[in-house]
Amino acid sequence: MYDCIVVGAGPAGCAAASRLAKAGVRVLVLEKECLPRYKTCAGAVSRRALRWLDVDFMPVVEDIILKVRIQWANQDAEPVEYQSDTPIAYLVMRSRFDKLLAEQAAAFGAEVHEGEAVKSVQVTEDFVEVRSNRSVYRAEVLIGADGAVGITARQTGLYVPRASGIAFEIEAQLPGGIESWQTTVLVSYGVPEQGYAWLFPKAQLASIGMGTFVPCRRSFLPEFGKFTASLGVDLEKQHLKAHPIPLGGIDRRFCRPRVMLAGDAAGLTDPLSGEGIAHALHSGSLAADHALAALKAGDFSMASYQTAVEEAINYQLRTARRLSAIFYSFPQFFSRLFVVRPEVLQWYFELVQGRREYRDMWDLAKQVLGPSRVFNLGKS
Ligand SMILES: Cc1cc2nc3c(=O)[nH]c(=O)nc-3n(C[C@H](O)[C@H](O)[C@H](O)COP(=O)(O)OP(=O)(O)OC[C@H]3O[C@@H](n4cnc5c(N)ncnc54)[C@H](O)[C@@H]3O)c2cc1C
Repeated sequence: MYDCIVVGAGPAGCAAASRLAKAGVRVLVLEKECLPRYKTCAGAVSRRALRWLDVDFMPVVEDIILKVRIQWANQDAEPVEYQSDTPIAYLVMRSRFDKLLAEQAAAFGAEVHEGEAVKSVQVTEDFVEVRSNRSVYRAEVLIGADGAVGITARQTGLYVPRASGIAFEIEAQLPGGIESWQTTVLVSYGVPEQGYAWLFPKAQLASIGMGTFVPCRRSFLPEFGKFTASLGVDLEKQHLKAHPIPLGGIDRRFCRPRVMLAGDAAGLTDPLSGEGIAHALHSGSLAADHALAALKAGDFSMASYQTAVEEAINYQLRTARRLSAIFYSFPQFFSRLFVVRPEVLQWYFELVQGRREYRDMWDLAKQVLGPSRVFNLGKS
C-alpha cells in the first residue's frame, strides 16, 4: 500500500513524484519503458517551464534559443526574425531530460520502477488498485501521467476522444552541419493548415517536424517530405515518428475521486504552439499538492484539483485555442502583421519566457483586429 501511485515518468509524472517524495509521502512511479527512452518531441523547454523544475537541467541542455526565424510557405511573404537577450527556450533530448527528472524524483525518495507497464486501474471507495505486468499495487491516490496514449484516462472514464492534433518528427543530420543553426530555431507557417513545421537544433542533430492542431485532418506527410527536402534532408532515409498532440482549452474532467490526470494524459497541450512540457510540469506539481492535501485531510474527492487546473492552466489554453483559430485561418494577414507590428511577436515570445500571459495576447489581438472582430473569429 502506497500513499500515491504515479503512472508515467515523463515531465508530469516526475514533477508530481518529486514533490510528493520531498514531502515524505510513500510514492511509487510505474514507467513502462526503461530510461533513457526515446520520446517523440522537439524538446524545447520554454523559459516559463523553469519555475516548475526542481533540478539543475543545464547538464542535459543541448542548445539555448535566443532567436526565432519565422517563414511562410506558399506565400509571397518576407521571413521575420525575433531576437532576445535572454533565453526563450532550452533544447534537450527528451531521453536525457526525462531520465534526469526521474533520477531527481528517486533522489527525493520516490520508488521508481522502470520497464513496468500498467495494465489496468480499478478505483474503489477506499483505495486505487493498479495491475502492472509484474505485480498488483494499492494506493490512496493515483496520478495518471502516462501521456497522450496512456491508459489511466481511458480506464478511469476521463478520456476525451477526438481532441488531438498530430505531429511528425525526425532527428536528422543536416548536410551543412548544425553549427549555423546554433541558438536559432526555424518555424515555418502556412503548411500544413492549422499548424507549422520546425527545425530545432540540438548538439549534433536537428529535430525536424510538422504538426497540426486540429483533430482528424488528412495526412500531411507529402508536405513534410517537401519541408525536409528544403533543408537538404531526404525523409525516406529517416526514422519517422508520429505522435498525437492532445489539445487543451476544452471542457473536460481532470479528476474523479482518488484519481487526477496531469500533462498530456489530461490533454494539456497548447493548441496554438503544441507546447506541453511546461503544462505537464505545472499540472504534475498541482496534482502532487492536491494529493498531499487529500492525504492530510483524509478527503479523496479531488474536486479542488479540477478548479485548480482550470484556473491555472486550462483557462489560458482556452484563450490559446481562440487565438489559434484566428491565427491559422489568416496566414497572409499575420505574415504582414508580424512585419508592421513586431510587438505582436515580441509579446508572444515574452509569453513563452513566462513574462506575459495569454490574457495579454488576447488584449493585443483586440487592439490590432478590433474588439468585435476578434470576438467573432475567436468563437470558432
Ligand atoms: C512531435 C512533438 C513535438 C513536441 N515538441 C514539444 C516541444 O518542443 N516543447 C514542448 O513543451 N512540448 C512539445 N511537445 C509536447 C510534449 O512532448 C508533451 O506535452 C509532454 O511530453 C507531456 O509530458 P507528460 O509527462 O504528460 O507525458 P509523456 O512525456 O508522454 O510521458 C508519459 C510517460 O508515461 C509512460 N507510460 C505510458 N503508458 C504507460 C503505462 N501503461 N504504464 C506505465 N507507463 C506508461 C510513457 O512511457 C512515458 O514515459 C511535442 C509533442 C510532439 C508529439
